[in-house]
Amino acid sequence: MDMDKCEDELQERFRGCMLGAVLGDCLGGPLEFKNGNNSFPFSRLKREFRLYDAWEPERDGVLEFTDDTAMARQLAYSLLETRTHLDPRNLARRFVDEYHREQGRGYGEAVTEVFEKLHKSDCRDPYGPAKEQFKTEGSFGNGAAMRVHPVAMFCHGRSRTELLEMADASARITHSHQLGVRGAQLQAYAVSMALDGVDSKAFLANMLELVESFSEDPKSKHTYRYKFEIMRKALATKNDDLAIALGNGVAALHSVPSAIFSFLRAQSPIEQLRDSSRFVRTVQLAISFGGDTDTIGSMAGAMAGAYYGEVDVPENFLDVCEGVYDAIKQADGLVKLVRENLDSDVSEPIVKRIKIEVQEIEVKPDINPELLKPEPEDIKPDVIKSELKPSASKSKEDVVEPDSALDNDTTDSAIDIKHNIVK
Ligand SMILES: [Mg+2]
Repeated sequence: MDMDKCEDELQERFRGCMLGAVLGDCLGGPLEFKNGNNSFPFSRLKREFRLYDAWEPERDGVLEFTDDTAMARQLAYSLLETRTHLDPRNLARRFVDEYHREQGRGYGEAVTEVFEKLHKSDCRDPYGPAKEQFKTEGSFGNGAAMRVHPVAMFCHGRSRTELLEMADASARITHSHQLGVRGAQLQAYAVSMALDGVDSKAFLANMLELVESFSEDPKSKHTYRYKFEIMRKALATKNDDLAIALGNGVAALHSVPSAIFSFLRAQSPIEQLRDSSRFVRTVQLAISFGGDTDTIGSMAGAMAGAYYGEVDVPENFLDVCEGVYDAIKQADGLVKLVRENLDSDVSEPIVKRIKIEVQEIEVKPDINPELLKPEPEDIKPDVIKSELKPSASKSKEDVVEPDSALDNDTTDSAIDIKHNIVK
């Protein structure tokens, strides 16, 4: 398929961003947890990528995208439809419909539970089902961060406050734990700076400044600060082997920093990846982390594509991966939309406020048939009344004790990620 040439730098960057995310997802997909939780040597990545040089779609098919791209596309479509703001209910419905159309994209079990609940309630409260998960603590998986780049594109030219607000709202539909929401905000800010072409030194300083601003959320502040400190030292010493220190898992705190590190580190040459372009070596470094390779690859790809532009993306990948032409069309739509919005004087909230209509619920308690019998003389009427009334208080079993796994030490080792994950 022939594509129109880009008219200017912004379109270049927007296309690069959408493309980079899809390619990182598709190229990382085949290696997801293929080496357990271990990283891959660069030689394995080079071998894998060599296959793509001689790729013939008729013979070899395409590498399919996964849930990362499936959800990011719906976020982009939602913004292209609502045009001036994010409508959380529209987005939730799109996620649900997308999931029901193609359930085999690698969604995690917990997120499908959110989709089912949203579906049953027709997304009346788009944030409700996610809030109920994991004893009401919510998920801190990386599923909100992996799809957030269209938010950064939509918010291009706007304030950081608006960017963070929209990233927060887009995240909470499936991930309401602060570590998951903050992960999405950090990724959104990273992509936004990449679109602006911010150099690596200022980029890292700005990220750290954002982390320090999480003052009302000390858990996220300490956790992500710890990661950025590791990153800063590794960048100074050109240490590339950070899978253990930064993580490669499905928690946002174990993958967003790894993607950001890959983007920053690959701006300088890497000896063992010297044959690769800047964009490709970013994706290769990200996938070399192992573990959740499609998501780390996709998040790093979104940043690298935004920073280097479409021009740095090798053309042969366009035939290898599914969904690239839709990504280009969406990027072109978003760049046009962003320009229109920046030119217009209309100012309205960037996230639509959700009014949840309280429906009249007819309460039908189970009535003890004994009480319906003719009243014996010794039972007073108000006793019957109180027994018929549904109980307002929760039973003991319903009372959820807060999980204290994250309460004390917020360093990596103290965090139990067996639960609280929605991919
Ligand atoms: Mg995936």
